Amino acid sequence: MSARYDAIIIGAGIIGACTAFELAKRSWRTLNLDRLPAAGYGSTGSSCAIIRTHYSTLDGAALAWEGFFRWDDWAGYLETADERGLARFHKSGCLVMKTEANDFMRPICRHMDALGIPWEDWSPERIDARLPFYDLRSFGPPKSSDDPDFAVPSEGPRLGGIFFPCAGYIGDPQLASHNAQRAAEAKGSTFRFNAEVAEIRKADGRIAGVKLASGETIDAPVVINIAGPHSAKVNRLAGVKDMKIGTRALKQEVAHVPFLKSFDFGADGMVTSDGDIGCYCRPEVGNHIVIGTENPPCDRRDWVDPDDYDRNFSEQWQAQVERVAQRIPALGIPGHAKGAVDLYDVADDWIPIYDKSDIAGFYMAVGTSGNQFKNAPVAGAMMAELILACEQGRDHDREPLPFRLERAGHTISIGFFSRLREVNRESSFSVLG
Ligand SMILES: Cc1cc2nc3c(=O)[nH]c(=O)nc-3n(C[C@H](O)[C@H](O)[C@H](O)COP(=O)(O)OP(=O)(O)OC[C@H]3O[C@@H](n4cnc5c(N)ncnc54)[C@H](O)[C@@H]3O)c2cc1C
Repeated sequence: MSARYDAIIIGAGIIGACTAFELAKRSWRTLNLDRLPAAGYGSTGSSCAIIRTHYSTLDGAALAWEGFFRWDDWAGYLETADERGLARFHKSGCLVMKTEANDFMRPICRHMDALGIPWEDWSPERIDARLPFYDLRSFGPPKSSDDPDFAVPSEGPRLGGIFFPCAGYIGDPQLASHNAQRAAEAKGSTFRFNAEVAEIRKADGRIAGVKLASGETIDAPVVINIAGPHSAKVNRLAGVKDMKIGTRALKQEVAHVPFLKSFDFGADGMVTSDGDIGCYCRPEVGNHIVIGTENPPCDRRDWVDPDDYDRNFSEQWQAQVERVAQRIPALGIPGHAKGAVDLYDVADDWIPIYDKSDIAGFYMAVGTSGNQFKNAPVAGAMMAELILACEQGRDHDREPLPFRLERAGHTISIGFFSRLREVNRESSFSVLG
């Protein structure tokens, strides 16, 4: 007799695995299908996995604040062990440079105060004491390195920053996905790998299941698109029509560079977000620094087909490292590029879509825009509550479901993440969300 499932989840990245766990906790029998060989082998595996709470919208910050508590008690959240061990949350804190472009972080600090999230105002002298190798002159706005003004500092005062102590990074995002898989399996979920969904089946006006590339069919009344950068393709497979916000794949390069020998960046460094040079950074094992881009306007955005793009580094890698070398002049620039090349699944306003669709039984957690690793456990719970409510007859489009963030002490409307919303003008329209 073939197994029966209440829901099929397309994708086993961190959000797909956490959604399985949250549905399984609510007694749903779920099946995750992933075309890759293991959980977290897609874009999650390349993630910088930075955990931070500073978002440009209050709801975005509230979601991330709730997420912080899940990572801070990862073992308690999972309720189970993993034979590979648990992913570690390095609580390094996060320093965000204050610039004119971010209004010296005042709007974001107002969100932090509204939610009770701690922050500290760091003067240039305080930054000197923690990061003595930093050049705090302003080089912004970010420029390409062939611009004659590249690395020419402005006359203005040195930069200060806002430090968020409740922040850091997960060292191994693939392991975190495996942890969530094991937690879901312990509650009865099933995961299948090397299993590509090629067709989404419908009958009597609602979801009936999927067909794999191998030809095998699997039945379920609910299918959830958590396919990361393939989200738009999977929505097309399902025949979703009613969307005001679209998603598309954006190529991203992350540089891994040896840090200064004189400083233990892993022990004494932190996550940084620096709009003045258009980069974010975090420590990496072996005293390395990971450098990502905040996609400043001077850079071309490389929108690609997720099944057909160049996975090599480009001149973008060099640009990111050179930009950070403005702030850290002693940083050596290696001759060989190392790091990761992968994709963001970007929504039109860089805010995710956690929603139902116009097809009964078809749901989506997509458009995560390079900034939702940290929210995976909360997104999973939100998706589970949304699916349960809709399957019991709630019309979420007309009457958006509220969702209580217990640890953050705040209630949000899941309608904030609707596919039918207008583009949210409060967004940074960048990876910062
Ligand atoms: C370079 C980079 C840096 C990032 N840094 C951060 C960060 O610092 N902090 C943060 O919070 N977020 C960050 N993110 C974003 C974060 O990693 C993502 O939001 C999150 O990992 C998305 O998880 P997911 O489960 O939705 O998708 P994914 O991990 O992409 O998983 C989707 C899965 O679906 C599978 N799939 C697709 N199509 C099919 C199909 N037809 N059949 C079967 N399987 C299919 C894929 O194989 C894949 O495994 C970063 C992302 C990238 C790429």
